Amino acid sequence: MADYTENPIVAPTKHSDWYARASSALADAGYRRGSVRLAVLELLDNQPCALSAVEIEEALRHRAPAPKAASRASIYRILDELEALGLLARLEVGQGIVRFEAARESGHHHHLICDHCGTLIPFRDEELERTIHQVSQRVALNVSEHEVVLHGACSDCTS
Ligand SMILES: [Zn+2]
Ligand SMILES: [Zn+2]
Repeated sequence: MADYTENPIVAPTKHSDWYARASSALADAGYRRGSVRLAVLELLDNQPCALSAVEIEEALRHRAPAPKAASRASIYRILDELEALGLLARLEVGQGIVRFEAARESGHHHHLICDHCGTLIPFRDEELERTIHQVSQRVALNVSEHEVVLHGACSDCTS
């Protein structure tokens, strides 16, 4: 059995197309393959939905090995770089909190946000997608993307 504890850097993580696209876009833009930058990419690559900068900072702190200098400022800077390169989708979830997720072609989904506790729940709905597609044909816009956010109170906050 393989033992990865000796060298946790080569953990058996599978990278997606998004990860490959993101790392080459960063390289093309002249950014170094810094450990924090790669750790942020890897983390976002393995998320089903969006994270805030604070959550990213927390998650990186609990990782082994902890990248050096993973300050919130450096995480914000990396998120800005990735967003400017069109690699991240930004989600304003209220109360001034912004969350980020990998902008991928696959895994398209929408979001439910609890305005009381800030919980974010991803959802998919084929009928909604069909409807949006039909509406897109009728409007005076060459629609390239869409996002749907439903606000309310989650089950914890209504009980
Ligand atoms: Zn999401
Ligand atoms: Zn809630």
